[in-house]
Amino acid sequence: MSAPAKPKIFVFCNSCSPGWHSMVAIAEDGEVLAGHVCSDHGYANHDMGLTPDGWKRDKYAAHYPDGFEVVGVQDPTLGVNADFDAALDAHAARLQSDAKAGVKP
Ligand SMILES: [Zn+2]
Repeated sequence: MSAPAKPKIFVFCNSCSPGWHSMVAIAEDGEVLAGHVCSDHGYANHDMGLTPDGWKRDKYAAHYPDGFEVVGVQDPTLGVNADFDAALDAHAARLQSDAKAGVKP
């Protein structure tokens, strides 16, 4: 019997411009856990915790104390990665329910 899959945290670039890459980490349940601007995608591996000794992993651990898997999404286009799309859907659903409850983003 294999261990249950750990929840995923997706790291992707939300805005690509020369020298300005707005990296975002979103949990599979739709909660945005961290953001960071990198001058190059290569820095995201460390700065967004894709490597085990990287930054932000304390925030990830606070959200998923029993463990997690950090997934680097190379192409955030909808339809490329179904798990990532599901996280975005969950995020949109959260925004809608927050809006109904009167919570300001
Ligand atoms: Zn980028």
